[in-house]
Amino acid sequence: MLVLEWLDIHALLRVRATCADGDQAASATLSRRIRLLMLPYFTDYAGFIEEMRLSSAVVTGEAALHVLHPHHGPPPTLALALPDDLFFHMVGYLVRVEFYSYAMSTHHNGSQGLQRLTRTATLRKETCTIEIIQSGTHSPLTPTLSGWNTALTAYFTPNGFCDPYALLSRQQRALLNPWMDQTQQNPLWIRQQKKSWRNQGWKILAGSVVEGARDGCAGRAKFDCAGAVRVYGDADCVAGPWQPVRNRREERKVPLDLVQRHTVMWWRGGRTCGERCQGGLMRLTPGGRTVLRELAKVM
Ligand SMILES: [Zn+2]
Repeated sequence: MLVLEWLDIHALLRVRATCADGDQAASATLSRRIRLLMLPYFTDYAGFIEEMRLSSAVVTGEAALHVLHPHHGPPPTLALALPDDLFFHMVGYLVRVEFYSYAMSTHHNGSQGLQRLTRTATLRKETCTIEIIQSGTHSPLTPTLSGWNTALTAYFTPNGFCDPYALLSRQQRALLNPWMDQTQQNPLWIRQQKKSWRNQGWKILAGSVVEGARDGCAGRAKFDCAGAVRVYGDADCVAGPWQPVRNRREERKVPLDLVQRHTVMWWRGGRTCGERCQGGLMRLTPGGRTVLRELAKVM
């Protein structure tokens, strides 16, 4: 079973599909990874998971990347994204129950970000740091698209996971967020991050890398094309529940699950695939919005 520890989410889903035992083993591996990652941060782990459910929180950034693609090492901090109204619910919980201290910061993402203003709470206790990012909308998923590259757009909840660029991440390829590119935001910080990721074997790229996309896109966008309209939960996402498909326990319902109610639709923007992509435009402005999952017809 040791080999399972090193498999990425693509490979684990193949193990899951083989038989009931494979299904159980893949689920157990993923659950173990999450516990290993998160246990050091909390004295009451079960209590925190319940708080995640109640406040519709998602784990994102390098923490989600590490769980789904363990070739990427453990994250320096645990990043959580929260819906706008429930941000302080989580901050309050961690201060009151887990005795974290906190500091708030706000930064503007320029004029073109999906989320123009981001409020972040940095919580510290001994060697542990948790970053809580407030969404600008009712969906906790809006800020998960604000990371500096596509590998940081994955998320997980106590119930399941979703990775919109899993195919790229498993090849250690990531596309630069064009907002960073255009606004020259934190250029030194981005340069340092790029260098550190490259040292870990990543290729950081500016435009679509899918085979054939450069010639054959013609606006019928590949999943990583600048103009591809994507939704969390669409067919190009690698997504699923943590629990085994067979003999699944019934999850206790929470009064309001904003991860299930809303999703985010977006197009990445940035450098297009070439002359036949997007009517010959060289660059496309990024964009997107929150939509009801029911209307987007994704689960
Ligand atoms: Zn294209």
